[in-house]
Amino acid sequence: MMRQSFSWGNYPHKPQRLQKLASLDTDLPQHSFLPYGMGRSYGDSCLNSEGVLLSSAALKRFISFDPASGILKMEAGVSLADILALVVPHGWFLPVSPGSKFVTVAGAIANDVHGKNHHSAASFGNHVLQFELCRSDGRRLLCSESENTEFFYATIGGLGLTGFISWAEIQLKPITSMMIDVESIKYRNLDEFFVLAKESAESFEYTAVWLDASAKGSDLGRGHFLRGNHVEETNDLSSKALSVFPQKRHTVPFTPPLSLVNGLSVKLFNQLYYARQRAIKKQFTQHFDPFFYPLDSILQWNRIYGRAGFLQYQCIVPTAQAEAAMRELLQTIADSGSGSFLVVLKTMGDIASKGLLSFSRPGANLAIDFPFQGKKTLTLLSRLDQIVKSAGGALYPAKDARMSAELFQQAYPQWQQLEQLRDANITSDFWQRVTKG
Ligand SMILES: Cc1cc2nc3c(=O)[nH]c(=O)nc-3n(C[C@H](O)[C@H](O)[C@H](O)COP(=O)(O)OP(=O)(O)OC[C@H]3O[C@@H](n4cnc5c(N)ncnc54)[C@H](O)[C@@H]3O)c2cc1C
Repeated sequence: MMRQSFSWGNYPHKPQRLQKLASLDTDLPQHSFLPYGMGRSYGDSCLNSEGVLLSSAALKRFISFDPASGILKMEAGVSLADILALVVPHGWFLPVSPGSKFVTVAGAIANDVHGKNHHSAASFGNHVLQFELCRSDGRRLLCSESENTEFFYATIGGLGLTGFISWAEIQLKPITSMMIDVESIKYRNLDEFFVLAKESAESFEYTAVWLDASAKGSDLGRGHFLRGNHVEETNDLSSKALSVFPQKRHTVPFTPPLSLVNGLSVKLFNQLYYARQRAIKKQFTQHFDPFFYPLDSILQWNRIYGRAGFLQYQCIVPTAQAEAAMRELLQTIADSGSGSFLVVLKTMGDIASKGLLSFSRPGANLAIDFPFQGKKTLTLLSRLDQIVKSAGGALYPAKDARMSAELFQQAYPQWQQLEQLRDANITSDFWQRVTKG
């Protein structure tokens, strides 16, 4: 089956063949394939132009749920949205969530995704109890911290390369309310950001920042610092209360030929958005859905970047280099006049991620979208790479479509261990690109 786009950024745009794994009992292909979830990875780590994408879309069953302990077992293709709908009414929540709930549980494991609570809960893999890994030689490995441990750690953040996860079991976290107590602080520059990040890490479970990437000089790095905690009093957790969200969704109905995101619209949007909040500090209580998933309310928002698609640049730089490197990165982006409405900055905590190849590590993490404008975009991103490389940082494979083999291998020195555990029939365009240099 051919479909127009298989990764969220729609860059690179390469034809793919999609095949559904019919059930947990079906044998794996004996030719080149790559496990596939909902294609919410931005670049080419979820693409395999030389073989097929083996989709988990038919594996949507919950296997067991214990409302007393919060242990949930499900097939690979169950989405985080499905999980929330089942468990919130029983007083449980995802231990870690990325900025979209339209991702599968296996995809969340394979990228070891992180969320607004990285500083307090680390990444998704830290909450996975066990899973089954199917290898194309017919083996089915039960993987946990006590069984097949090598495969357990290599599959968390293992980019789908070690085998097909058929089911997984995770530990949820308890909640007493669907609501989040939120503080939004309008801060003036990067210095203020780092002070707020430090001060908030102790007392707020969730933190993240929307940042004005067009601001320069003394305004460099300005934005809105968002921090929140689950409301502690017991509140209505019923399915009826849950169904209030998601609110009415909007869809971008078609892909325009050219990007609607350009230097002018970005500058205007950023200035207006920054000014939107008048008070320095705003406090309010908000349903978890708009707090965690503001982008999910506009379905297929990725289309606004036009037919050429877009790239997200997501990097992390170690704490000691964070302030200087972020200053240089943001200055370079602001000077280029490129960038977008969506810029996220966050400091990550120092609880170690479990995956052999996890992106999440202590430091400052910046994510920004760029409409693809050919050589101009690639040259700018290569300049950003130099800053990240000198600071000893890393780019996030889930968002990447172009980093060099050299930068990848410097940032992920364990890649050869993963290569040894890789299933012989599994590969991705990303893996071909970053391991062959
Ligand atoms: C709006 C938006 C916001 C996001 N915010 C964040 C964020 O805050 N933090 C973050 O970390 N990420 C974020 N992401 C990225 C997203 O969470 C990850 O890319 C996620 O892994 C996508 O899951 P998926 O089910 O779509 O998997 P896909 O993108 O289809 O695949 C991802 C990886 O999982 C592997 N895989 C899929 N199924 C299986 C299986 N059954 N067995 C083995 N491997 C498998 C694939 O081979 C691939 O390597 C965001 C994405 C979007 C679109």
